[in-house]
Amino acid sequence: MKKYLSFIFSMLSMLCTAQVGEICNWDENKAAAVVLTFDDWLTTHPTVVVPALQERNMTATFYFIAKDMSSTKGAQLRKAVELGNEIGNHSYTHPQADSAIAVEVRKAKQVIDSALGGQYVYTFDYPYGTVSNMLFDTVRESGHIAARGVWSPANYRYNFASTVNDYYNIRTVGVGGSGVTTTKAFASHLTKIINGGGLLTYLYHGVAKSGDYANVTKEIFYEELDTIQSLRSKLWVTTLANAVKYHREKLCANLQEIEKSEKCILISLTDTLPDSIYNQPLTLKIYNQGKTFNRVYQGKEENDCPIVFQNYEYVLFRALPDGGDICLEYGDWDVTAVSQVENDNTVRVANHVITVTTTATASVVVYSAKGAVIAKKTGSCQLRVDKVGTYIVSIDSKSQKIVIK
Ligand SMILES: [Zn+2]
Repeated sequence: MKKYLSFIFSMLSMLCTAQVGEICNWDENKAAAVVLTFDDWLTTHPTVVVPALQERNMTATFYFIAKDMSSTKGAQLRKAVELGNEIGNHSYTHPQADSAIAVEVRKAKQVIDSALGGQYVYTFDYPYGTVSNMLFDTVRESGHIAARGVWSPANYRYNFASTVNDYYNIRTVGVGGSGVTTTKAFASHLTKIINGGGLLTYLYHGVAKSGDYANVTKEIFYEELDTIQSLRSKLWVTTLANAVKYHREKLCANLQEIEKSEKCILISLTDTLPDSIYNQPLTLKIYNQGKTFNRVYQGKEENDCPIVFQNYEYVLFRALPDGGDICLEYGDWDVTAVSQVENDNTVRVANHVITVTTTATASVVVYSAKGAVIAKKTGSCQLRVDKVGTYIVSIDSKSQKIVIK
């Protein structure tokens, strides 16, 4: 019996080591996704909200009522899209009955798509939060991949959508009016979603304009954005379309090692969804087993997949399902652009990478809390850190380890 058990254990460990890596739950291996949604394209949405998001390098989803289209509004919407925001469909006339909404879904999508100059509208927002099975079908069949409702979150878990219809009734936290009105209440949902690992959406109407429905003052709105910003290392702030694409791709994608040699690993990433719509890159976590990958590309050699993060266990980068085989090349240390680092030198870090020359003579392997620091011999090496900033880089003379503070 004992022998039998140990045989099982060794089989299990073989299976584990054979695994090339995994697909991260969210972009850049963030703990959770957050989507800010704004309904009705009120006057302050283009003038206050879009610039406030841009300043913080955030994007959001705005739901537009198609009958409001004009040349001015069309230009505003195109500008928002250029900045990475999503414009979604909020019906044509904003009726309340499901049958009245259903007859407008396609027409409204056409009007917004044509103003944006192509196929841009992928998600829907039910006027008055009206939902029905008939409406789910209509919204799905008219080319939308998801829709936001007005119901409060049922859970904060990653598996928030156990049926396809769940993507057509994405839960949300209302802000202002009868929803959350303090930054503290707003933040409590962020804590829950970080712990749960799921997708959190917020629903705004009025911002910075008293008299608008469920208005949130400019001060509170900025505070809410800055609260999200302070948790950015754990939160993927994106649009509803991108979050849903990512989630659905991840759940059906297949990651496999094709080939492994001294020089590189070749892997494939495929999924079962239509590539014309589901074109969101997934973040892959591939184990480097103590080595370093120098370069990653997908399909053709010029299709570089920039390395997002690397430490002594794994590398993170983005790749497209069905975008061609992915090649990860092991590399020697970069010997160009070397900056000599003596004990306690201060180095300004840009682009998340610094290159230093170690004066250590022994074999050196270095670990920092945040990033990969690996130097196995005298020479130059790349140190990756997760944030631009000023760091003290030194070599501990006793342990011969490079220390970053
Ligand atoms: Zn509305």
